[in-house]
Amino acid sequence: MGRSSKDKRDIYYRLAKEEGWRARSAFKLLQLDQEFNLFTGVRRAVDLCAAPGSWSQVLSRKLRSEKRNEEERKEEVKIVAVDLQAMAPLPGVTQIQGDITKVSTAQEIVRHFAGRPADLVVCDGAPDVTGLHDVDEYIQAQLLLAALNITTHVLKPGGTFVAKIFRGKDVTLLYSQLRVFFSEVTCAKPRSSRNSSIEAFAVCQNYSPPQGYAPNMSNPLLDHSYDVDFNQLEGPNRIIVPFLACGDLSAYDSDQTYPLQLDASQEYRYTPPPPASHPATLSASLSSAQDQPTGQRRLPPTGSRRLPPTGSRR
Ligand code: SAM
Repeated sequence: MGRSSKDKRDIYYRLAKEEGWRARSAFKLLQLDQEFNLFTGVRRAVDLCAAPGSWSQVLSRKLRSEKRNEEERKEEVKIVAVDLQAMAPLPGVTQIQGDITKVSTAQEIVRHFAGRPADLVVCDGAPDVTGLHDVDEYIQAQLLLAALNITTHVLKPGGTFVAKIFRGKDVTLLYSQLRVFFSEVTCAKPRSSRNSSIEAFAVCQNYSPPQGYAPNMSNPLLDHSYDVDFNQLEGPNRIIVPFLACGDLSAYDSDQTYPLQLDASQEYRYTPPPPASHPATLSASLSSAQDQPTGQRRLPPTGSRRLPPTGSRR
């Protein structure tokens, strides 16, 4: 039985049709709101990866439907929806067609919120699945991190970020990364999200970036052209990775050339290099070289080299 016929039997699919939602996903955001009160006091929101637009519909209906000072309130509400694909217009929703992993798209979103940050950012982004689970999980994680980076530019302190997350093996790492920016992070699974699906939603509340953190559009995750001088970064924005040199000064230097130190008890015999045209020939030649007596090898075995005493090496 095909997937579409299964969808048609699905209760949320039918409810979405009845209630006029563009996709059954609308219920995921509605159920997340039931649990976390996502929309209370929200006037400015961003919907990343929004097409066909059911989450934007939810935002539009919920944020614009409050009764008090209706006209004034409608004026004040700002919703920006972004997707690779175009979608049909929605009342009160500004659309941007673009890739959220691109700096140019991120900058366009930021422009819409210049001076007045958003209260809520949601991202239901999902890449086209390849069927290779590890690859799909990795791409999903990169999409979430791209969304997080945009969020750090537009979200107000104390604001909320909701993003689709795959409950794969990297979920703990992503959780820790989100916890750097939000004091509360919950992985939630709405009833309308199928149990058979690996998807869940990270509900990140109380945006509180590290002291001194400066959002940076030139994040290498977003763009491979590093157009920022990393030496200019300061405080928590600049991490200098320490390297530890191991081994004492009497150990061999791998950049030096040392004279061959052969076993004096054996006569030296030259062995010509093996023809290395084919990898199989090469590995066969190498293994036969290993079988030769010590004196015939081109490289002395470890035991015959004069190495520094073991105790002085790490
Ligand atoms: N929340 C939407 C709704 O309720 O209608 C459904 C979103 S759909 C599951 C996932 C969307 O992510 C697709 O429309 C896809 O085009 C979008 N997407 C995937 N990668 C993207 C990217 N790099 N930039 C922008 N949108 C992306």
